[in-house]
Amino acid sequence: MTTTYPPEPFRIKMTEPIRLIPREAREAALKEAGYNLFLMKAEDMFIDLLTDSGTGAMSQEQWAAIMRGDESYAGARSYHRLKNAVEDVFGFKYFMPTHQGRAAENILSAVLVKPGMYVPSNMHFDTTDANIRARGGRPANLVIDEANDPNNPHPFKGNMDVSKLRAFIEKIGVENIPFGMITVTNNAGGGQPVSMENLKAVSAVYHEFRIPFFIDAARYAENAFFIKQREAGYEKKSVKEIAHEMFSLADGMTMSAKKDAIVNIGGLLCVNDENLFQNLKNELILREGFPTYGGLAGRDLDAMAVGLYEGLDEDYLSYRIGQTAYLASRLNEAGIPTIQPTGGHGVYINAGAIFPHIPNYEFPAQALAVELYREGGIRGVEIGSVMFACLDPEDNQWHYPALELLRLAIPRRTYTQSHLDYVADSLAAIKSRADNVRGYKYAYAPEFLRHFTARFEPL
Ligand SMILES: *Cc1c(COP(=O)(O)O)cnc(C)c1O
Repeated sequence: MTTTYPPEPFRIKMTEPIRLIPREAREAALKEAGYNLFLMKAEDMFIDLLTDSGTGAMSQEQWAAIMRGDESYAGARSYHRLKNAVEDVFGFKYFMPTHQGRAAENILSAVLVKPGMYVPSNMHFDTTDANIRARGGRPANLVIDEANDPNNPHPFKGNMDVSKLRAFIEKIGVENIPFGMITVTNNAGGGQPVSMENLKAVSAVYHEFRIPFFIDAARYAENAFFIKQREAGYEKKSVKEIAHEMFSLADGMTMSAKKDAIVNIGGLLCVNDENLFQNLKNELILREGFPTYGGLAGRDLDAMAVGLYEGLDEDYLSYRIGQTAYLASRLNEAGIPTIQPTGGHGVYINAGAIFPHIPNYEFPAQALAVELYREGGIRGVEIGSVMFACLDPEDNQWHYPALELLRLAIPRRTYTQSHLDYVADSLAAIKSRADNVRGYKYAYAPEFLRHFTARFEPL
């Protein structure tokens, strides 16, 4: 049975036109971009599900806040409004704005990661992974085994394997682990939440070994909402209270505000340690800007201050999570396998299962991304071997990820039910001709964050 589509808890006050260009024009656009959807024009997209990062619709309150932006270089009113919101929502002692999540990751890695060090997490997001590697460090993914089984209905598939974590720390040595992380929700693993119980256990292990614990908080509000829905003892707590409890377990966080703070640009870096804060601040001044604006305009800080609260609104969260569940249920009905249970911000299609004849080194999920554009002018993103296959410096072998996924990320408050129905119908059409789809090879591939700029040739 199809999950019902939740009525939007808002109405539309401003529109932005989109159009489907003709099939031949889509084919030409694909060819010109080297079959990499990151290199295509947004204008040529009918429905753009590349990412939910910075692509949401801001509210009337956020646009009003933009007009109140104080562009003073130092100590702006906008900074203090954001400071109040950040302290209220997260509860860390110190914070700095950054222009994006990866800027916070860069600053943290620059200050703490030395060559040869390891940073464990459930699963690092691609930018976190790359920022650690760029400093000579090694990211380690210690998610529970259930996360690698796309059909396992475990309610908290973002959980870290606590015994793996302990064994990892004992093997690598505390002195080689500058900090530990956990990503909520686990974007790279399907937008799956982490339970409070797991956060507590992970925090206890890190702290037993005196390793600072950082949360990658991009989708913390969706994670808190899943805890409320799925974890015993949290049904009656507000999402904000749950979020507070999550962050009380950590020593700091990095956050892309382009996700659950529903802004088009912005990030946060928070810590409790004063000494570390001083060092991070110096790096921030070098890379981003003065600590009261951190690479953003005053108006961006104001939009974020308002968005932090809107992202926690439970009517909004229930609509958002429901919208994602609706798309997944329409796809599943059409026989298209998606990661179960459905995550928060997007639907992760198991492209490896749709194209069993395409091996991982010919990029089945990239092939599905290209087909979906060809079919319906729809843009998704490959989360498979293009994004994550890596050459291990120890054994000089290519390591491939366990799953080949196409992620359809849902921008916040942007698309309607008929848009999602159109997406489901387009995928059903591809499924009926799946046997004829071929893989791809690289025409160009950079060393880091390959998926952004690589070019492909069809096989
Ligand atoms: C988006 C994201 C980041 C990086 O944030 P940017 O704002 O894109 O730099 C880091 N971690 C997770 C989990 C994310 O989803």
